Amino acid sequence: EVTLFWFRRDLRLEDNVGLYHALQSKFPVIPVFIFDDAILDSLPKNDARVGFIHDSLAKINAQLQENGSSLLIKKGKTQAVWHALIQEFHIKEVYCNKDYEPYAIARDLAIGTTLEANNTPFFSHKDQVIFEEKEITKADGLPYTVYTPYKNKWLEKYKINGGVTEFDATSWYGNFYKSNFDFLTLEQIGFEESSIKVKPHNLSKIANYHETRDFPAIDSTSYLSPHLRFGTVSIRKLVNWAVRKNDVFLSELIWREFFMQILFNFPKVMTQNFKSAYDGIQWLNNEADFKRWCTGTTGYPMVDAGMRQLNQTGYMHNRVRMVVASFLCKHLLIEWQWGEAYFAEKLLDYELSANVGNWQWAAGTGCDAAPYFRVFNPEIQLKKFDEKGIYIHKWIPEFNLGYGKPMVDHAMARDRAIATYKAGILKN
Ligand code: FAD
Repeated sequence: EVTLFWFRRDLRLEDNVGLYHALQSKFPVIPVFIFDDAILDSLPKNDARVGFIHDSLAKINAQLQENGSSLLIKKGKTQAVWHALIQEFHIKEVYCNKDYEPYAIARDLAIGTTLEANNTPFFSHKDQVIFEEKEITKADGLPYTVYTPYKNKWLEKYKINGGVTEFDATSWYGNFYKSNFDFLTLEQIGFEESSIKVKPHNLSKIANYHETRDFPAIDSTSYLSPHLRFGTVSIRKLVNWAVRKNDVFLSELIWREFFMQILFNFPKVMTQNFKSAYDGIQWLNNEADFKRWCTGTTGYPMVDAGMRQLNQTGYMHNRVRMVVASFLCKHLLIEWQWGEAYFAEKLLDYELSANVGNWQWAAGTGCDAAPYFRVFNPEIQLKKFDEKGIYIHKWIPEFNLGYGKPMVDHAMARDRAIATYKAGILKN
């Protein structure tokens, strides 16, 4: 008789709410991770994110081995894997942490039904956010669609709660099931090492975050994003720390939760404009233009440097993400969904809620978005945020040799964007 704890996007033992509760069940706990074919089948064999997940699981396995236990790794279609697990073990209870993406919600509902048919309770806990779903709402109970009042309510609730409790389960580690399961290699899962790696996160420069975060040449952001995506750090620990260190940094962590609750409450944003008034825009969607954007050959140094950073490292600085996204939607009149999909393929920190939220912000189609008539000038952005060209030179080594002509003239593109948006909005 055993309890199973199902790891998903919470790849750590420390301050893991679902695991904390699992370890206090009456039965020894088998931790399990499932490589889900429904997700893996669409990825290239050297996808760096799969490598990062595998590395993170290896760390967890090493910690478990110190406690005489080990991680059970499975690969397959989730439903089939659970049917097999039910045959293999006498499972009394299953625990996990909640995942709010539409695919995950449907998956968990299906697995919950399977487990229920086996008389096995399935408990899921809030772990990846401080406030979830409809915990932060307006007075009328409806979700916020504007960031600042959401943030104020979030902070108020955090203070009323007296911060957020962390869940230390170390004294329960004796309750892990004694085991020595085979640890599947990356090759056994059908993948290979990527040359692109997730950087360790770095909180050492956060004291000056509010002054330095917009300058891509300064290495001053936290690099937390993939770690938050896969749960190799705890959001509770981080927020309790950020509250004492830097308000602007804390605000960014609240943006993350803002977009998560938007996706949860308005799942259509995944593919459709949040503001349907923008549905009538006549996008150009030119394939050749899109290719130049993807390959970082637009002739605008800041756009090109950003896209090259993304292609080579799986990361792009936030300021530059804003510039390249605006450029795609406004200068090239390509719909945000194309850019969103390209980022989803390349970003190590790809997070559906944040990616869609920020892309719609840049396109002007989202909640609390930049107004459509605001068109970033990539040259001015460069002067403001990379005055000495340090970032540009890093990603465009040939820059000094005379750089190519911009693929579109800024003044023309700006006027065209405003006119096209205006016409699209009027049409609807
Ligand atoms: P820091 O500046 O150190 O911020 C700390 C954390 O706050 C981040 O790790 C992230 O979790 C959160 N955060 C910061 N800015 C935002 C924001 N604007 N929206 C939501 N959360 C934020 N972030 C992702 O995690 N995944 C994505 O897929 C993603 N796509 C984006 C697409 C576009 C077009 C834009 C403009 C931004 C996108 N972002 C995305 C937000 C932001 O660019 C990254 O979170 C940030 O650059 C990650 O680097 P960092 O961890 O060093 O950030």
